Amino acid sequence: MAQRPALIIGVETGGTKVVCASARADDPGTILDRVSFPTTGPAETLARIVEFAARPGIAAVGVGSFGPVDVDPASPSYGFVTSTPKPGWQNTDVIGTLHRALGVPVAITTDVNGAALGEQRWGAGVGATDLAYVTVGTGVGAGIISGGRRLAGSGFPEIAHVPVSRHPDDTFPGRCPFHGDCLEGMACGPAISERWGADASSLDPERRVLARDIEAHYLAQLVAVLAYTLGTSTVILGGGVSKTPGLHAAVIAAVQRFIGPPDANGSGRPQPVIVEPALGDDAGIRGALAVAAELLG
Ligand SMILES: [Zn+2]
Repeated sequence: MAQRPALIIGVETGGTKVVCASARADDPGTILDRVSFPTTGPAETLARIVEFAARPGIAAVGVGSFGPVDVDPASPSYGFVTSTPKPGWQNTDVIGTLHRALGVPVAITTDVNGAALGEQRWGAGVGATDLAYVTVGTGVGAGIISGGRRLAGSGFPEIAHVPVSRHPDDTFPGRCPFHGDCLEGMACGPAISERWGADASSLDPERRVLARDIEAHYLAQLVAVLAYTLGTSTVILGGGVSKTPGLHAAVIAAVQRFIGPPDANGSGRPQPVIVEPALGDDAGIRGALAVAAELLG
């Protein structure tokens, strides 16, 4: 009888839904089958993941998880969702639960790092060793690959909360519960609707342009921070807010204002390229499969 090919399982746990997918270990870029279901309590959610993953030939599981999640393999709480406000999920041992149920190696990364990895392997970041996947929606998040490695220290980058300089026409106080007018407090989707008292798409044309330029002003500062601190050369800008018409071009123009001409940062490096995601909603699940494949070498 022919040997059954080894299978890997990718799991993307989001705040509202979970996606599970399988692939052959020797072809992690091709999804064989998948399921999606709502994220409920941890016991039920993890049981449904196990139900999908428990199959003959399974060799490894990779997880891209909502956070905060401990992604430091040397930490005693590695693989735990830690201090999340999501009911029931505080201190949930995701890796240990899946490993005990399935008996195969399990690795975990953050949801945004998973998306960054997926885009690097198969999407808008192919060939880039210094890239960031920035998502702007209900919050701001960034998955960062630097020198070919995912950045994940004792916690993970909290770059959503960097201080930003205010747009001269912006009087919005900011909505971050910790800092008020940090990047996330000024640039996340809810900040835009609170600033304008309306969804940006329902504004008159003049205010729509101003809303877009104010948003670009803040996101461009994140791009400049990434370029200056990490030499990030490719920024993949995704999430619901990123679909605002004209926003990509406005961010590119604002980055040019912040960084200046190609040699203005002193290194002679070109400005980072800012691109749209190529994998759409599949970046995270495909990154989770890449994490599983890494476990097998
Ligand atoms: Zn903040």
